[in-house]
Amino acid sequence: MRTFEHRGVGLGTAILRGLRCRCPRCGEGDLFAGFLQQVDKCSVCGQRLGGFNVGLLLPFVVITIVAHVIIFVMLDMELNERASPLIYLAVLVPLSVVVPLAVIRPVKGALIGFLWSRGLSDELER
Ligand SMILES: [Zn+2]
Repeated sequence: MRTFEHRGVGLGTAILRGLRCRCPRCGEGDLFAGFLQQVDKCSVCGQRLGGFNVGLLLPFVVITIVAHVIIFVMLDMELNERASPLIYLAVLVPLSVVVPLAVIRPVKGALIGFLWSRGLSDELER
């Protein structure tokens, strides 16, 4: 017997609700208590969320997104001959800090939504 309930929520809806940092089940309750610390239980619908552990999938997805952004900007700079070491420093270093910080929270939410919709919880089934 599984400890989660779908109540007609599909995979895409669960991921979109996670992207908005909301509970994948109801779309109302907050998914995070801090910047990245997920809540144990949804404050609105009571869905247990603490057991959905994204683990190393989170850095993998974030690094993939960041690498694509950085590579696109580097290619654009190289092809338009704007590449000097100072411009690289001024553009790419802040970009490589800002982009991960901007995407890590919604990506973690989306991954929790994915895990929730598939019932992939670390909690023991009761
Ligand atoms: Zn909820």
